[in-house]
Amino acid sequence: MVKYEDECVGCTDLGLHCIGGACRNRNVPHFYCDKCGEEDELYEFEGEQLCISCIENRLPKVAV
Ligand SMILES: [Zn+2]
Ligand SMILES: [Zn+2]
Repeated sequence: MVKYEDECVGCTDLGLHCIGGACRNRNVPHFYCDKCGEEDELYEFEGEQLCISCIENRLPKVAV
């Protein structure tokens, strides 16, 4: 899933002119695994957005 988070840390304090709602720090996309909720690199898998470890868990293992 994608969540947009407000990461504006008071741009004005940093000497930047925060432009309020249009501040690019206010809508920073974060990608979270649909299964475990970890913020990680995600892959489209079976219609869900999953991190690699969740995908591995879904793949059938060949017993050795
Ligand atoms: Zn800002
Ligand atoms: Zn995961």
